[in-house]
Amino acid sequence: MRTVFVAEYPVIQHRHDDGEIVSVRLRRRAGGHRAVCDGCQTEFVYRKPTASRTAHYKSPLLPPVKGNWDSSDTDD
Ligand SMILES: [Zn+2]
Repeated sequence: MRTVFVAEYPVIQHRHDDGEIVSVRLRRRAGGHRAVCDGCQTEFVYRKPTASRTAHYKSPLLPPVKGNWDSSDTDD
């Protein structure tokens, strides 16, 4: 089974290969909050987000916009 660490709580939304958006609810277990999705055999483990060690600044120009850019950062 795959294990995915998530920073959302208590409901994890994820996408299956068929395009369906599935929600699973984290449950308290020994060692933390977990949820298992039978549909994709994935275990979601909650990890409390930690503060970034890098300083972040708002863009002085525009808010972040998603789109098809010519640059190569097309991870999603
Ligand atoms: Zn799933």
